[in-house]
Amino acid sequence: MRQQPTPPPEAIERARSGACLICDDAGKVRGLCDKHRQAYRRRRAKHRTKKRRAAYEQRQIEAGRILPKQYVRKLNDPFADDGAEL
Ligand SMILES: [Zn+2]
Repeated sequence: MRQQPTPPPEAIERARSGACLICDDAGKVRGLCDKHRQAYRRRRAKHRTKKRRAAYEQRQIEAGRILPKQYVRKLNDPFADDGAEL
């Protein structure tokens, strides 16, 4: 099982500000504006296997170019996990 990738602190900070991780438009889904989310999805789709798409996604998250799924929701959740294992 692959470990859940963690975005770099700069990306988290930027997501908190509400801006897209790439440009200065508003970040809507997973830290990206519509234009950049579409660009990401197009690139991801070029990888032929599910495994390669997942690896690509992981690299992009670790590079701070997109956030993991559900991440923004957790950022805004006042009861969010404090890091302890459940
Ligand atoms: Zn953008």
